[in-house]
Amino acid sequence: MNIKHVGVVGAGQMGSGIAQVCALAGLNVRLFDQNKQAVERGFAVIKTSLERLQAKEKITAEELAGVLSRIELITEIEALATVDIAIEAATEVEAIKQVIFKDLDRVCQPQAILATNTSSISITRLAAATQRPGKVIGMHFMNPVPMMQLVEVIRALQTDDAVFEQVTEMARFIGKTPVDVKDAPGFVANRILLPMINEAVFTLYEGLASAEEIDTVMKLGMGHPMGPLALADLIGLDTCLSILGVLYEGFSDSKYRPCPLLKQMVDAGYLGRKSGRGFFTY
Ligand code: NAD
Repeated sequence: MNIKHVGVVGAGQMGSGIAQVCALAGLNVRLFDQNKQAVERGFAVIKTSLERLQAKEKITAEELAGVLSRIELITEIEALATVDIAIEAATEVEAIKQVIFKDLDRVCQPQAILATNTSSISITRLAAATQRPGKVIGMHFMNPVPMMQLVEVIRALQTDDAVFEQVTEMARFIGKTPVDVKDAPGFVANRILLPMINEAVFTLYEGLASAEEIDTVMKLGMGHPMGPLALADLIGLDTCLSILGVLYEGFSDSKYRPCPLLKQMVDAGYLGRKSGRGFFTY
């Protein structure tokens, strides 16, 4: 594997998870966010997650220390100049990602791969924002990253086959199972998942059952390990709303219209686990 140095952009729940699994596999990681507080929060989350693994005897104290020593916290994007791959995991807003991709294109060495963990946004459009569209690709991890096996590897229309192969190899190297998926709004995972979550929110909005009862129906009735409303809280309601917006606009199809209750909850700042309150309280 010729990828040794990884840059991660955004130290939120996904970015910190991606940094953790890369460092656990022995790669050197630079974790970037806009401010010091955000990277420090991300690093604290990684530490807690590793301590849980140590308590379960899945890693030793030495391994824990090794992983943490391979993660460098940075607040200047220029520090990503020497990475082999940058994985963008910032807020799910296309305008933010467009700026990040232009910046990465400017600072990263010409051969570096620029990947995005976007849940839904066009990889083809992000690739077109750079001078290296063949080196741009989607690498869609699932939440929580340390626990979930899947990575959707999404080729932009412009992505080079060699880049696709390298990223697929990297996904396997860090212990994940890559699935080759084409670039379309929401790819496969969120094209299927988000309409289900949205419909669950509609059932709550229409008063068909309580949040607990809706989740119980899907857990006990469908064998889902987690109900759709608890899952929405885990994903982040702002992220869910953004993904639905991308599906709605991308397919020009009213079947993806976000439930008014979801919009209202985001307006209220009830974003799920990350804000302490969503459909459930944390
Ligand atoms: P989050 O809100 O937890 O974290 C986003 C982070 O991005 C924050 O720390 C924020 O400070 C940072 N950020 C924003 N703008 C930035 C910029 N210009 N430069 C650097 N950092 C910036 O969000 P998240 O849940 O970690 O989601 C991140 C990405 O991963 C999104 O694209 C999302 O769609 C995708 N994703 C999320 C999930 C999920 O379940 N939450 C699953 C798969 C993919």
